[in-house]
Amino acid sequence: MANENTKMNIHWFPGHMAKARREISEKIKVVDIVIELVDARAPYSSKNPMINEIIKNKPRFIILTKKDMADDQYTKQWVQYYEQCGYQAMSVNLKNFNEYQKIIEKCRYVLKDKMEKEKARGLKPRAMRAMVLGIPNVGKSTFINRLANRKATVTGNKPGVTKAQQIIRVAKDFELFDTPGVLWPKLDDAHVAQNIALLGSIKQSILPLDDLFIAAMRYLSLHYPQLLKDRYQLEIDLENENWIVDAFDHIAKVRKIKPLKGETDYDRVMEVFFSEINDGSIGKITWEDLSCVNV
Ligand code: GDP
Repeated sequence: MANENTKMNIHWFPGHMAKARREISEKIKVVDIVIELVDARAPYSSKNPMINEIIKNKPRFIILTKKDMADDQYTKQWVQYYEQCGYQAMSVNLKNFNEYQKIIEKCRYVLKDKMEKEKARGLKPRAMRAMVLGIPNVGKSTFINRLANRKATVTGNKPGVTKAQQIIRVAKDFELFDTPGVLWPKLDDAHVAQNIALLGSIKQSILPLDDLFIAAMRYLSLHYPQLLKDRYQLEIDLENENWIVDAFDHIAKVRKIKPLKGETDYDRVMEVFFSEINDGSIGKITWEDLSCVNV
């Protein structure tokens, strides 16, 4: 559903970025905590490069979505990494989600001092307010809907909140904007663009498809050889200079893809492969480990 629309968001022009930034900067004034969603399959590439500047020093809670499609080992490492960076972090599967309490608990924990200080200053007790942010397709709408459906009390007309942006009260002490802040990915970085394309968040064809196929195959042969073996009975030897042609031919044979004028139908092989990557049928894959972080 959201895919087709969000795939169009690859055209982030400076004007779009400035607008997104302005909208978020407006909302952020009445927000206590930012919930930043990233995709667990590429928890670095699926982040906006300027988030720190955009949200300034608002407390941040990083949620890695789609953990059902990512490698559990890596997900654990990435959650730990973000915790070490000083954020609250957790991973979720929004297709099977019941961790509302845990999320609210973590927000309460982060905001405890702030709320207590307000109370000590004699201010009226109020609910914490959160805003969801992230690049297209990371699960922002799904996340908000999951929380909202649980308790869909829409409370508009709050000070500082325009009518177009509704606030949902999810718990007695927890409110959420009903629309997320949509940010842009760092597509000018080749590593990031490649990973974002492999997540299916942008049209894979914005990159030369065969380059993407080669990069994915190389990565899988190094990190997930067993998945290639299980899915296509394929074993890749990167030392063999014909490895990529062999891989194409092999997948075509295993998947019974009809040749085109006597040649392997390369386009069809890539189509099959990418659709199996996108729907998770090859297995749980994470496209980057901590080595991509400049620390
Ligand atoms: P948004 O663009 O950030 O608002 O993303 P959406 O909420 O529209 O989600 C994009 C796609 O990812 C939809 O097809 C969702 O069903 C799917 N999705 C979101 N979260 C998860 C998750 O945790 N696991 C899986 N498997 N799919 C998810």
